[in-house]
This record gives sequence, structure tokens and C-alpha cells, in this order.
Amino acid sequence: VYILAIETSCDETAVAIIKDGKEIISNVVASQIESHKRFGGVVPEVASRHHVEQVTYILEEALSKADMTMKEMDAIAVTEGPGLVGALLVGVSVAKALAFSHQLPLIGVHHIAGHIYANQLLEPFEFPLLSLVVSGGHTELILMKEHGVFEVIGETRDDACGEAYDKVARTIGVPYPGGPLVDKLAQTGEDTLNFPRIYLEEDSYDFSFSGLKSAVINTVHNAKQKGEVLKKEDIARSFQESAVEVLVHKTKKAAQAFQVKQVIVAGGVAANSRLREALTEAFSETDMHLAIPPLALCTDNAAMIGAAGYIAYQKGNRAGLDLNANPGLDLEMYGDR
Ligand code: ATP
Ligand code: MG
Ligand code: FE
Repeated sequence: VYILAIETSCDETAVAIIKDGKEIISNVVASQIESHKRFGGVVPEVASRHHVEQVTYILEEALSKADMTMKEMDAIAVTEGPGLVGALLVGVSVAKALAFSHQLPLIGVHHIAGHIYANQLLEPFEFPLLSLVVSGGHTELILMKEHGVFEVIGETRDDACGEAYDKVARTIGVPYPGGPLVDKLAQTGEDTLNFPRIYLEEDSYDFSFSGLKSAVINTVHNAKQKGEVLKKEDIARSFQESAVEVLVHKTKKAAQAFQVKQVIVAGGVAANSRLREALTEAFSETDMHLAIPPLALCTDNAAMIGAAGYIAYQKGNRAGLDLNANPGLDLEMYGDR
């Protein structure tokens, strides 16, 4: 089964062709980072326009790289939500047009299901499975006992981890998207600033990053007023140690409590070098299997949408030509379809 997958939920225009939900035939991603950099973040209207301009070229490139035609496709999968409504609409409209003109089944996919299923492109899932989703808009612990069904056991009560990374980056004068650069600066810094580790209630798997973010902003502000100079590297390192320590602690605790076989890390922040290292260490002496996708599959792409779309295809979930972008699509409800 060949699935043509489209992803336009945020600032990457992406098209991929996936065979049987696990083999990448082609995977093309066009990033808009350069256009958003001067604004310090993603501007929704700019993102939508870029998607409109790019999407047909990216589609042609994905087909030509695969050396295939639309006639060989068995279904079209597209990110239905969550994300920016105008950006999502571009992908959804293209997917509907393709499904209609080539008489193919249409499948709506949840973006976060996609991030989790990125790992299915490397190796099969082992259930029960725990996924730590850490991205620009989400920080969640998700339990899966079977394919396509998701139980959110913990989530952020305020900022997402990636969002905190991007705000800390701004505070220390690092350009958008700040995550990768904060990661790099942290590698030569020291954890000297004693930022808080925010664990919330003893038995909670929820997260909170706004207090940590404020602590960073206040520390930088106070130092400036006193005329002190703080090293960017130390700020980055101290922030990162605090964020990673809490993420790793809660992930390990949940993995043990639910006795999972596999732990999957998903989303853009899964590209973080310290998080990868700390998780690897935390799970090294357990019999749980830790899986972290390669960097290119952690950030937004359409291959992951094809992998998740294949599960929906097998479940028999078909969208009609009235499919709409759903910026607030709920993951558990998506799984219950
Ligand atoms: P969502 O998936 O929640 O809808 P999104 O698609 O915008 O949000 P992703 O593209 O999955 O998010 O991830 C982008 C985020 O990952 C950004 O906040 C970025 O700063 C962060 N990020 C990327 N690489 C790293 C890194 N090495 N260290 C820390 N953060 C990183
Ligand atoms: Mg992105
Ligand atoms: Fe994403």
C-alpha cells in the first residue's frame, strides 16, 4: 500500500510517499525558517502563503524522487490538526483535490499521532508503549496499549517545552528557532544558576515550564540591572538541565508505573542532545526499550503522517470531501474513531 502524505500544520511544507506504513520511498521537507527569522517566530499568515506557493513543487518533487506517479498511490493522508488553521487548510485542500481527481481514499491524521509514528519507520512498536512528546506546541506523556489508540496521562499546564526553549533563546538574543542553538550553547556552559525544577504534585505526570521560563527571564533582567554579565552558555546550560531533569524523571516514573515495554521520544525537542543523553542513561539499566528517532524525523515531516495514516487506513477510517482543518483536534478522540 502506497500512501501519499501531506503535512502543512506549521512552518514546514512536506510531502512523503510511504509504503505499508513503514518504508520511506520519498520524504521532502521545505522549511520556512528563513522567512520567519526576522519576526522572531512563526507568523501564521506568512506560513499559509508559503505553503500555497510551495506545495505543488514539493508534491512534484516527492513523486519524482520516488520515481512514481499519482496512479500508483493507494490513498492520500493529510494532517488535519492540530496546528495553524490557515496553514492546515492548504494541505487539507490539496489532499482533497488529489483524492477527488484521482478517486483515492482520503485519511485525516492527527499531527501528534504522526510525531509518535515517526518511530514506526525505524522499528515496530512494542506495547504497552509510553511516548514522551516534546515539541513546539506540546509536552505530553502518552500511553498506548495498541495501534492508533492514545491515552494522555500527563501534559503541560502552561508552556510547551519547545516554546520555553524558544523564549529562553529570545531572552539571551539567539535567533529563531532557538532550540537547536540553546542546545549548542549549553554544551559549553555550566549549571550554575540554580533554576527551579518544577515537579508539581507528587503523583502528577503533568508538566509546567512557565515558572522556569520566568526564572530565566528574571535572572537575566536582574543581572542586567546590577551590571553583572552572565555567560549565555551558563544560562542555556542551567535552563536545559532543569528542563531535562524533570522530563526524564517523569518519563521514567510513568514508564515504571505502567510497566511499558517501549519508550518513544517524539517531537522537535527530541532532537535535543542533552535530553537524548539523559534518557539513554536513565533507561540503560532497565529492560525497557528506549527509541529516539533520528533528528530529521523528530521535527515536522510528512513521512510520519504517512506512517500514522497507514494505521488509520487499516482501521478503515476514511474522511469525506468535507474534511476540514481542525486546529484543536483532540488526540484521544482521534484515536477513538
Ligand atoms: P507541534 O508539533 O506541537 O504542533 P511544532 O510542529 O511547531 O509543534 P516541532 O516542529 O515538532 O514543533 O518542534 C519544533 C520545536 O523543537 C521548536 O520549539 C524548537 O526550538 C525545538 N527544537 C528543535 N531542535 C531542538 C534542540 N536540539 N533542542 C531543543 N529544542 C529543539
Ligand atoms: Mg516546525
Ligand atoms: Fe510538530
